[in-house]
Amino acid sequence: SFQKLPLKDKSKDELFQLGSTFNNMISRLEIQYDKQKQFVYDASHELRTPLTVIESYANMLKRWGKNKPDALEEGIDAILSEAVRMKEMTNDMLELAKADDLLELQMEEINLRELCCQTAKDMEMATGRKVEVDVASKEVFITADRQKMKQLLLIFIDNAFKYGADHVNITAYINAKTVFLQVTDNGFGIADDHKEFIFDRFFRTDKARNRETGGAGLGLAIAKQIVDAHNGKIAVQSVLGEGSTFICSFPADLKAVSK
Ligand code: ADP
Repeated sequence: SFQKLPLKDKSKDELFQLGSTFNNMISRLEIQYDKQKQFVYDASHELRTPLTVIESYANMLKRWGKNKPDALEEGIDAILSEAVRMKEMTNDMLELAKADDLLELQMEEINLRELCCQTAKDMEMATGRKVEVDVASKEVFITADRQKMKQLLLIFIDNAFKYGADHVNITAYINAKTVFLQVTDNGFGIADDHKEFIFDRFFRTDKARNRETGGAGLGLAIAKQIVDAHNGKIAVQSVLGEGSTFICSFPADLKAVSK
């Protein structure tokens, strides 16, 4: 039979290697599968809350809606706002569900400083609050996906204002072979024992959960996905009660120029 075939040492080695490659592949697939399962579990869990609210208001409307104009108003408002929240959540989930290597990047050379200024202006218009681009920011060019980089900035700025900041500062600079993009806020700050989790999908501090400010804890997971897709790193520095700085660093390509 096959097993009795005399194998030369070389073939044994090859067979052994093949076996261990195969094992690696399987355990990688298993990890992926567990992650997917966890994602589906968490996603369903998060969607259930707004769905339950919608269901109970719809029931209420069915029973009392015709006779009570007040209830009608209240019910419709609640249903609408939960539906909007669910839509935002499912958009985020769809984005995150794309495997990292499927994230389609439209790479182009972008002037990071210009993008920061543009995004800051957009956010100032939208929020009426100050978003400042650090004057020390240099002209930094980076080959990246413009939309995704903008989305990255928007996530940080949006969070800053959600979590207590009234002022946000963006800095872009290049140091040796690394391009840095930093967003600093003067908000609540993040406790040390939360720092390692904030980039996880669906993680929200209890305080954030209680604030009823939208979000399903996916913003920073999307931010990390964008940074990963650009071969970058993401980190946070924060002091409770003082504020937070989110730091993204990207390998500078040869074309990145600092003037
Ligand atoms: P979401 O904002 O929907 O909760 P995120 O993934 O963007 O989800 O953030 C995860 C958690 O990290 C938030 O719930 C909040 O507790 C914390 N966090 C994020 N950004 C900041 C910030 N700028 N200041 C303080 N806490 C923050």
